[in-house]
Amino acid sequence: MIAASEDWPLSPARPDYDLLTDIRAKVRGLPIKIHWKWIKGHQDDGPSHASFDEWAQANIYMDSMAKAYWNYLNDTGHCPSPQRFEDKNWSISFQDKKLSRVDKKPLYDAIMEPTSKSYWQRRGNMSASNISTIDWELIGKAFTNLTTAKKRRITKHTSRHFGCGKMMQIWKFQDHAECPRCPEQDEDPPHILNCPAPSATLRWEKALTVLEVWMTAHHTMPELMTALLRCLHKWKHPNPSRRFARAAIITRYGLRAAILDKDDIGWYNFLMGRPSVRWRDVQHRYYEWLQRRNTGKAWLQALIKKVWEVSWDMWDHRNEVRTTTITPATMRETENLNEQIIEQFEEGEAGLGQKDHHFLDKPLAHVLGYDLDHKSQWLESIALARIWFVNRHEVESPSIRHQREFMASWLSDGTGPP
Ligand SMILES: [Zn+2]
Repeated sequence: MIAASEDWPLSPARPDYDLLTDIRAKVRGLPIKIHWKWIKGHQDDGPSHASFDEWAQANIYMDSMAKAYWNYLNDTGHCPSPQRFEDKNWSISFQDKKLSRVDKKPLYDAIMEPTSKSYWQRRGNMSASNISTIDWELIGKAFTNLTTAKKRRITKHTSRHFGCGKMMQIWKFQDHAECPRCPEQDEDPPHILNCPAPSATLRWEKALTVLEVWMTAHHTMPELMTALLRCLHKWKHPNPSRRFARAAIITRYGLRAAILDKDDIGWYNFLMGRPSVRWRDVQHRYYEWLQRRNTGKAWLQALIKKVWEVSWDMWDHRNEVRTTTITPATMRETENLNEQIIEQFEEGEAGLGQKDHHFLDKPLAHVLGYDLDHKSQWLESIALARIWFVNRHEVESPSIRHQREFMASWLSDGTGPP
């Protein structure tokens, strides 16, 4: 009533925005002055009606009429939907349905959800039914709480647009797609996690131990924890002859169905933080059995964040190896740069200006000892110095020749500058 009777601006996001705007407009248009009076609602919930004043009785009458009309609409199968109001300035409709307010979040979700889901279906090699069995609600909540840097990293990794070998080659930052940790020629996003290099496997085991410690500390259902860790182990070390039989998983609280769901969605998708909707219920029922007040929802939301940390660990390890060890690719690059440096020394000071001779002051062995970046910089500088020398020579030669000819003619015939 307060919102309808005042004239301060209404937020289009507030409930009943359309109705309130319409009431205000109608009141403004009346030739009489309206005085508002608040009446306590539902006074007839008490035992007696006798002591009510006329306002309360009118309110009770109006309430019962509204209820009667509502029951009539229900009985006749009428399905109510937001109506257009006569005195409202504007309205917004989505899919031919008028909205009673502009709530950006649900509107954005309604517009973007089909597009995003079909994108993630393609990116995650999933079926349409997989998409509906993923717990998007909790992924969204877990994601919202991350720092901007982590959000960016996860979006890049899950969408496969990040600096793995395959993308670096496509983007032409390097001429190969090799894995820096093992002989794999095509380092794609899943390879970051399942690279068979011993140091990568060691980091993986360590990351899973951290996950296990977290799950234990948060009273995770033991059978769920075992099944989850075994499935992740199988994903990393596939061995068809030693399959982890799903029939051995207990069915209590829907655990087996939850694991089978995840088999269908794929364990790489789990590692990208896309669990099945069933998981929160399994853990929630276990918490209930333990008589703990924790919720399966909070548990799964935190688990998603923990799983993202696994992929971060593996990515971090891969980059550590790439920058601190000699990979076949860096070896090739080093050899190539060394050859160019030797050629520069062989060419020597000829073709270099006096002021650029310092490039060759240090012995060859010293320059060959520079790191990759320093070597490329050195090569670039000396190459520029040679170009500069050639250009300058070409400009200077004709002018020197002209001066020489001018001096000669002035000395021989006595004419010259005034
Ligand atoms: Zn590898």
